[in-house]
Amino acid sequence: MIKKFISKVFGKKAAKANGLRIFKSGEHSIRRADISNSALRVCEGLQSEGFATFVVGGAVRDLLLGRHPKDFDIATSATPEQVRATFRRSRIIGRRFRLVHVMFGAETVEVSTFRAHHTNIEDSDGTADEHGRLLRDNIFGSQEDDAIRRDFTVNALFYDPEREEVWDYLNGMADLKAKKLVIIGDPSARYREDPVRMLRAARLAAKLGLNIAAKTEEPIAELAPLLDNVPSARLFDEILKLLLSGHSLQCIEKLRALGLHRGLLPVLDQVMEDAAAKRFVLHALKRTDERIAADKGVSPAFLLAALQWPLAQRRWREIEAQGNRELPALHLAMDDVLDAQRDALAVPRRFDAVIKELWLAQPRFLQRAGAKPYRTLSHPRFRACYDFFLLRAEAGDAPQDVADWWTRFQFADDQEREEMLLPDEQPQKKRRRRSKRANAKPSDEKMVDDAPHDNE
Ligand code: ATP
Ligand code: MG
Repeated sequence: MIKKFISKVFGKKAAKANGLRIFKSGEHSIRRADISNSALRVCEGLQSEGFATFVVGGAVRDLLLGRHPKDFDIATSATPEQVRATFRRSRIIGRRFRLVHVMFGAETVEVSTFRAHHTNIEDSDGTADEHGRLLRDNIFGSQEDDAIRRDFTVNALFYDPEREEVWDYLNGMADLKAKKLVIIGDPSARYREDPVRMLRAARLAAKLGLNIAAKTEEPIAELAPLLDNVPSARLFDEILKLLLSGHSLQCIEKLRALGLHRGLLPVLDQVMEDAAAKRFVLHALKRTDERIAADKGVSPAFLLAALQWPLAQRRWREIEAQGNRELPALHLAMDDVLDAQRDALAVPRRFDAVIKELWLAQPRFLQRAGAKPYRTLSHPRFRACYDFFLLRAEAGDAPQDVADWWTRFQFADDQEREEMLLPDEQPQKKRRRRSKRANAKPSDEKMVDDAPHDNE
C-alpha cells in the first residue's frame, strides 16, 4: 500500500521534472519472467518497505535487445544501511561508492542507492584530479540524478518488475531502437571525468552492434591519452571485460579504429608484428569468442597465457640460444615475460601460477613414450593444458598429429594406450640427448620454440 503511494509520488515528481517516459507492459519487450528470482526478491523486498526499486543498466539494455544479461543490478532509493537492514544475508561493500551485495543461495545481487553526478563540486573538495577525472562518486540523489550520472543513454533505463514498466529519462529507448550509443551529457566532460568510458564505448558498440553517435565519438581521438592516468588495475579489469566480451576481435578492431589501442594492449602490439604470433593470438581470441557464444566457460588465465605465449616462446628460444638447457630456459623466459607484461599491462600476479602451468605443460605433450604420457594425463590441469596444446595445433604452432594423438590417448582404454605409446623411449632419449650435446642440435621439441618465428 505505502509502496504504491511512494512509487506514485516518485513517478509523478520525476515525470514532471524531466521528459520521463514510462513504457508500460506491452510497450516494451521485457517480461517479468526474464528477471532472475533473486533480483525479483530484492525488488519486492525493498518496494514493500516503501523504497522505489528498479532493475537498471546493462540488464535492462540487454533484455530489450533480446540478449541474456550477465547479471541484474538493482538501483533503489534506499540507503545502503536501509538495504542492509532489509536483507539478512547482505553486506555493504565498495570504496569508490558503497553498494550492497544481497545473497540468495549462490547468487549475489548488487544493489546501489540512487546517486547524483557531481562534477560541479569537483575541485573544491578534491573529488576530481587535474584532468577532471572523478575520484569519488557517492553522493546520493534522485532517480533522475541516477539516470544522468550513468554513461550512455541505453545504460540508463530502469525496469520495475512489479508494474512491468520501463522508465526512460534520457531517450534511451529510442537510441536503442536506432542502435545508437549516445553518451549522456557533454561528451568531452564525461570522458575527462572517467576516461574508461571511452573503452566502454568501444566495447559496448562492438559487443552489441551499436553505432557510436558522431558527437559521442568525436572527442575520443583527442582524449585517448587520458587513459594513461587511469589506475592500471582498473584498466586491466576493463581490458579483461573487453577480451571476454564474446566479441574480442570486434572490440580490438574498434579500439584500433578509435585510436584507443596504443599502450593499452602492448602484448597485442608486439605480437601483431610477427605473422605466426599474430595468427596464434587471433586464433585464440576467435576460439574464446566461440566458447562464450556457446555458453562455455573461459578462464582469464588461459586467455592471458595465450596472448603472451608467442612472447614467452620467443624469449625461451633466445635464452636457449645462450646455451641454457630447455627447461631452465623456459622457466627463465616465463619470468621475463610475465614481469615485463606486469609492468605494461598490470596483469595481477594471481594469474601467474596458472599461466606458468599451462606453458610448462606444453613441451610435455611432445613426449609420447614410456611413463611420461601417463604423468601428463594425471596433471591436475590436464584439460586446460591439452586445450592450450590443441589451440596451438590449430594455429599451426604445434603438430596436429600429436594433438590428435592426445585426443585419442586420453579416451583410450589401457590396452589401446599401451599400443599407442611410441616405442623405445629410454634408449632413444639417451641417444638424442647425447647427440644434442654433441652436435648442439635442437631436440625433438624444436617445433615448440621454432614455430612462431617462421615468418612468412
Ligand atoms: P556489461 O555488464 O554487459 O559489461 P554494463 O553496462 O552492465 O555492461 P557494468 O560495468 O555492469 O556494465 O555497469 C552497470 C551500469 O553502471 C552501466 O549500465 C551504467 O549504467 C553504469 N556505469 C558503469 N560504468 C560506468 C561509468 N564508467 N560511468 C558511468 N556509468 C557507468
Ligand atoms: Mg552489468
